[in-house]
Amino acid sequence: MNQQKSCCVAADIGGTKIDLGVIDSEGNLHGQIIKAPVPFDIRRIAQPEGIIEIMRPFVEKAAQQFGTLVGIGLSVCGNIDAETGEAVLVPNLHWRYVPFGEMVHQAFGLPVYAATDVRDAALAEHLWGVAKGTRYFAWCTIGTGYGGYLYLEDKLYGGYHGFAGNFGHITYDEIHGYPCGCGKRGCFETFVAGPAIARAGQAAADAGHSPLLAQLSQDGRVTTHAVFQAYSQGDPAAVEIIQRVVRLVSINLSGVVNLLDLEMIVMGGGIIQVCPELVELISAHIRDYLMTAEAKRDLRIVKESFANAALFGAAADVFLRSGILVSNQKFPD
Ligand SMILES: [Zn+2]
Repeated sequence: MNQQKSCCVAADIGGTKIDLGVIDSEGNLHGQIIKAPVPFDIRRIAQPEGIIEIMRPFVEKAAQQFGTLVGIGLSVCGNIDAETGEAVLVPNLHWRYVPFGEMVHQAFGLPVYAATDVRDAALAEHLWGVAKGTRYFAWCTIGTGYGGYLYLEDKLYGGYHGFAGNFGHITYDEIHGYPCGCGKRGCFETFVAGPAIARAGQAAADAGHSPLLAQLSQDGRVTTHAVFQAYSQGDPAAVEIIQRVVRLVSINLSGVVNLLDLEMIVMGGGIIQVCPELVELISAHIRDYLMTAEAKRDLRIVKESFANAALFGAAADVFLRSGILVSNQKFPD
């Protein structure tokens, strides 16, 4: 059965880890998702050649097992030129103008389709996931960062420069806020993403407000994970931290919905995987900030459909851009 379907190799290159999978044109994963750490040099610059060497045995084995591969889909955690596959700016990998797509193409002799991870995640949800059939939705990820991608009038929406969907970098409080990875100060991301949760947990432990967080800390350092552990045990300081995250995400996303009149927001990322109940909490809380009765009634906030939506999106991109699957999307937006 495997041999009859078109297969591709999908790779999701995150800020710390790489996920690899073989996915067919119906969105089925064949075998396991393989995980590996991103290879960095001593200057903390990710090594594209090292990533290719990690991919090599996986791609070769997939080609033996599934016959001719349609191509390789690359999803990368930064700004990728989907036309050329060039990594224009990937802060977490310290990449600026790295021709990564071309390098992967040269290494394996297969067509390569590269794009930004949030765009790919939205594409997967549209094609095979919970957003199938919707015409106006946003993909939203909360993890190390906070942001997403837009799907409007039945199309991916990249905007003028391809930077649309950066709702995590809307300024919330530049006076009391923290510096953001984008270069500004006080963006929503600096209040709600993983590092912000850990920082708030650290402050609570240091101030003596949470003996539990102090106890869960490792060498005096409170992690994001520890805050969620304390939260699940009802620790008042952790509950306050998470309630604040829910409130701020709700305020932020309500602005997106008030602006764009979306029907759905699909939520994913590391924080949602650790604490899926956030989706329901945000779904309830966002109604307080929505402008219209229609949005309060109709807006659906749902959890992502995949273990890693960006990985599946990288595959979706291969099948759509190679013409094996057809969509009214004009690629590569
Ligand atoms: Zn920012």
